[in-house]
Amino acid sequence: MLSILEFFRNLPRKNCSVCGSQIDEKADCYGNLCDECDHPAR
Ligand SMILES: [Zn+2]
Repeated sequence: MLSILEFFRNLPRKNCSVCGSQIDEKADCYGNLCDECDHPAR
């Protein structure tokens, strides 16, 4: 029986659609953008 944490750990890593760098786990979803390419304050 997998815990919810195990489930999220097995999820594939997302990659930024702009620069292609790996995206760390984020609670918010602005599409597939890394922090570098996705600045809300910009
Ligand atoms: Zn990026």
